[in-house]
Amino acid sequence: MAGLLFGTAGIPYSTPKHTTQNGIHRVAELGLDGMEIEFVRGVYMKAPDTNPVRILSELLRIKLSAHAPYYLNFNAVEENKVKMSQHLLYQSAKTASLCGAGSLVFHPGFYLTDSPSAAYEAIRDNIRPVAERLQKEGFPISLRPEVSGKVTQFGDLKETMALCSEIPGLLPTIDFSHYHARTGKFNSYSEFSFMLTTMADYLGESALKNMHIHISGIDYSPRGERQHLNLAESDFNYKELLLCLRDKGCAGLVICESPNLEEDALLLKETYFSLA
Ligand SMILES: [Zn+2]
Repeated sequence: MAGLLFGTAGIPYSTPKHTTQNGIHRVAELGLDGMEIEFVRGVYMKAPDTNPVRILSELLRIKLSAHAPYYLNFNAVEENKVKMSQHLLYQSAKTASLCGAGSLVFHPGFYLTDSPSAAYEAIRDNIRPVAERLQKEGFPISLRPEVSGKVTQFGDLKETMALCSEIPGLLPTIDFSHYHARTGKFNSYSEFSFMLTTMADYLGESALKNMHIHISGIDYSPRGERQHLNLAESDFNYKELLLCLRDKGCAGLVICESPNLEEDALLLKETYFSLA
């Protein structure tokens, strides 16, 4: 089915007992379509645990994605940190794929003292072997570097798009709230439209039909993201974003990262479907 699906970043708060499977049940009960499994503090699942998750999500038609650990840095100075990042990205992607997830979100790293172009080259060269290994081993999952919210963190819009255009198996996670926080702009229909056009320029129109999107309310300073907020407490213009996504015929999964998780995920879904 064309169009956008909506889900939560992790297990909904209103889930009685917080397990991945209960979370999938709760997402379905709420009338949502998807859930991002949070490996952000570690890959908490072993391979045998993935089977029931995949079977349940298929049964309830809940689309899964996953988020890799926060502490990856493919531009680390220390060789062992790069190796650890590669191992964790591989392990997260493999586990997510066994769960039936089609996308793995990750943060490529930090510029540290490097120029953006030097950081870009290191990050590209260190991610590529992981993408190649996953493809060779036959795991059908897209690695999705995320547009970042902080100016110190690799991942402005064009860097992210260029990375995805260079490495087969990569597609972007567009966190529109992050980009608004990072730039202090990009909060209107025409600016959202520009972002989507940029994406299509780098990756082709087909990328608009296979999107992975993060949205939340957000608080920010000139340095970028401070913290996530609920949409009602934030200036983020989600209505014009949803309108723009609809007008461009975008399809894919929208994951809500607001602190209230399922409440804003439902607000986003209802708003999207109320657009005449
Ligand atoms: Zn993230």
